[in-house]
Amino acid sequence: MANNDISIPKRGIERAKVLEELSQFAKEDPDYRKLKTWSLVYFLGDEHTDFLLKAYGQYLSANGLNPMAFKSLKLLENQVVRMTANLLHGGREAAGVMTSGGTESCLLAVKTYRDMGRAVKRIRRPEMVLPETAHVAWEKGAEYFGVKAVHAPLRKDLGVDVDAVRKLVNRNTVMILGSAPEYPHGIIDPIPALGIVAGDRKIPLHVDACLGGFLLPFMEKLGHDLPRWDFRVPGVTSISADAHKYAFSAKGASVILYRSVEILKHQFFVHENWPGGVFASPALLGTRPGGAYAAAWASIMALGEDGFLANTAGMMEAVKKLKEGIRAIPDLEIVGEPKTTIFSYRSTSKEVNIFAVADQMEQRGWHIDRLQRPDALHVMVTPLHRQVTEDYLIDLKTSVDHVRRHPELATRGGAAMYGMISHIPLRGMVKKTVLKMFADMYGPDAKMISPQDTSMDGEGPAEQPDLATRAATWYLKIRERLRR
Ligand SMILES: *Cc1c(COP(=O)(O)O)cnc(C)c1O
Repeated sequence: MANNDISIPKRGIERAKVLEELSQFAKEDPDYRKLKTWSLVYFLGDEHTDFLLKAYGQYLSANGLNPMAFKSLKLLENQVVRMTANLLHGGREAAGVMTSGGTESCLLAVKTYRDMGRAVKRIRRPEMVLPETAHVAWEKGAEYFGVKAVHAPLRKDLGVDVDAVRKLVNRNTVMILGSAPEYPHGIIDPIPALGIVAGDRKIPLHVDACLGGFLLPFMEKLGHDLPRWDFRVPGVTSISADAHKYAFSAKGASVILYRSVEILKHQFFVHENWPGGVFASPALLGTRPGGAYAAAWASIMALGEDGFLANTAGMMEAVKKLKEGIRAIPDLEIVGEPKTTIFSYRSTSKEVNIFAVADQMEQRGWHIDRLQRPDALHVMVTPLHRQVTEDYLIDLKTSVDHVRRHPELATRGGAAMYGMISHIPLRGMVKKTVLKMFADMYGPDAKMISPQDTSMDGEGPAEQPDLATRAATWYLKIRERLRR
């Protein structure tokens, strides 16, 4: 096979061989089965994964595009939506749809409230108020749907500053956002206070519970002290909750719920004059993957409340151990006071570059997200992580010690790239560079060589330097230029 170009094989390859090759491709991927991956994968073990596969497989070809064709899917979707609505205290009035993930749910909320603002209040230049910690999906929604994102600062405790939100809303505000919790630090925004602003100004309030939707209700049942955040808070008009996160479903499943179908109506799309027929679609996608909806339904049913509670209890135990362990390592501190299974930690010393620590952890096989403003590392606990908390903490301590002894590591590889990305004042240049990198990754020179090919002939085309190295080189150049 040519290394840098590929066409459809003239003759089909035996299916068994194709499958073998597929597994070769995955050889260098993060090995989530060893539980060293944090975020990206919500893995409950092989038995659950095989079960999801079977559920998904049964509806692999089923299409949720037309709710009148595959009645099974409409039923599954209804049940997932109802179960979620009851979990989040939406009552019988709450109405929603399943989507392909958190991003689709967030995008839909932006579109829905933009259109509702236009229809109900004649708003022509829509704006929405987002906490600084809002997930990027909301920025994407702003860009895609032409809604201006207005950013509200945070308080000291990293929850959004509600007084600032009150000042930022105006006649053009079509929605306010709060997160439960936000992704970077796992902090729950003060939803009851946001609800008051929203109620006073008659502006919709969306709660992004993509992470917390299938987590916080069970923490509450276990007696954890949490502020109210769901439909019990007056003023909350919609909530997004990802099944493919803490409901441990297959990828491609989330729920967007509105307080009533009167709001949901603004989400629907109908085109009556298409030669292909009158077309109506409830969400963003056309063809909707039945397998993902069936797997979400199956996952929730199989876990049951007892399963969710047991998982949540296990996670909270791991969280406690991890936080204690991290606090015991000199020069590290937890960012804010997160109560959930998501948190982050940073360095309090100039001698310990936290991104260099991440590089060291990566060398030890851990796959960890890097955060910026402040520079920090991310922890997103799933139930099985309980088995590796001690290994994690040992490696973390070793990594911190190593970085303290080798300060030069802060200017190399990943540490240099992430340092550049988070600190360089020229934000526009960061954006331009990342766009350029993307064009390279998706352009004609995109890397196409499979791991198998490398191992077989050992040479192949010249290796492209990886992103980190290229960015680091670029960063050093810029820094030179700024010094002069
Ligand atoms: C993950 C996440 C999203 C986006 O969800 P995807 O499933 O990755 O598209 C949105 N908001 C929050 C708070 C999230 O954690």
